[in-house]
Amino acid sequence: MKNIQLHWQVLGAMVLGVIFALIFKEKSIIVAPLGTIFMRLLKMIIVPLVFFSISSGVASLSDSRTLGRIGLKTFGYYFLSSILAILIGLTLTNIIQPGVGLNLPSQSTSFDPESLSKPNSLGEIIIRMIPTNPLSAAVNGDMLALIFWSIVFGFSVTRIRGKHQEFLNNFLNAGFSAMMKLTQGIIRLLPIGVFGLITKAVSSTGFELFKAVGQYMLTIVFGLSIHWLIILPLLFYLFSRVNPILHYRAMASAFATAFSTSSSGATLPVTMDCIENKVGVSNKTSSFVLPLGATINMDGTALYECAGVLFISQVILPEPLTLGAQALVVITAFLASVGAAAIPSAGLVMIFIVLDAVGLGDHPGAAMIVGTMLAVDRPLDMFRTMVNITSDSIGASIIAKSEGETNLYKG
Ligand code: ASP
Repeated sequence: MKNIQLHWQVLGAMVLGVIFALIFKEKSIIVAPLGTIFMRLLKMIIVPLVFFSISSGVASLSDSRTLGRIGLKTFGYYFLSSILAILIGLTLTNIIQPGVGLNLPSQSTSFDPESLSKPNSLGEIIIRMIPTNPLSAAVNGDMLALIFWSIVFGFSVTRIRGKHQEFLNNFLNAGFSAMMKLTQGIIRLLPIGVFGLITKAVSSTGFELFKAVGQYMLTIVFGLSIHWLIILPLLFYLFSRVNPILHYRAMASAFATAFSTSSSGATLPVTMDCIENKVGVSNKTSSFVLPLGATINMDGTALYECAGVLFISQVILPEPLTLGAQALVVITAFLASVGAAAIPSAGLVMIFIVLDAVGLGDHPGAAMIVGTMLAVDRPLDMFRTMVNITSDSIGASIIAKSEGETNLYKG
């Protein structure tokens, strides 16, 4: 076992998980606790990891110009990659038209939209970025607020001098190193966790509806594949001039984790480990770019928001949405992906924001279709989460390159 590389072990665990779930059906749920334990271990480190990584990273940027420059590049790249993803979703849904003439099976009408917690409005999301109490942001896992606090705290460390600054820098770096060590320990359990998670995902997915919404699912999967296999590698090559295969190979464990946990947040420790130890990006860059990316940069989710809303509109409206309305979908899909939490199915909840923007939020038919989408969401969520973290990792790598880091892809 020890001689087999981790990503092969994980792939084996995935295949085993699928076979196990197909053979033992509901009974296979007996192994689900393995996945739950693994997921809890990952979640356990997110809050301290985000705090220590961002604040130590920002504190090490001794001048505010460097922080400003990296910040600008990060936001620029995140915007560009998300918009490209949305445009793919927009184009494909208009060409394939998966929702036109679709009659959904009646069992999906039993969905109660109230059962999905309503997302905060976009204005509220921005205001709530500023925590009134940083500790409660940490306790409640309020990631945007925690990131905001970690950045300003790290920045304030750069403003003090002498032994106090040295002490805080040492403390933050030590905390970060300990978190990364813990991450590496947890990653050893990856194959076991993946086995439990995949088994549960396969055995609890509503396969009966797949046929009804097959075209919709294929449209999303096709779009995500184009983004993952063509657009992101191209962007990567364009900015870094490095063979994308090297990058994808280095990130294999993070892909598997994203795929099986459906959570960019839970995957963050693994993404950071791959980017720092396999790709060789400095802590200075990755500790800022990755936690931010896991929280706000979601290409897969952005594509999904756009394609999902167009799909819903095709099912319930006799005419396609006007060009103006589609432009509104593009903008709100981007904002919804920024606001979506890095947890399973968060993207589906945010779809109500985009629906609201084009006046379909209260349409009873829309809620019913969202119910059906929820029933088949798991495989789509697995895929879009993987796309989300791929984009984050590419961002970290190309920003590192642009900052003059030369030690990349040497391992
Ligand atoms: N599960 C996704 C993530 O954590 C968000 C989504 O539902 O699209 O990245």
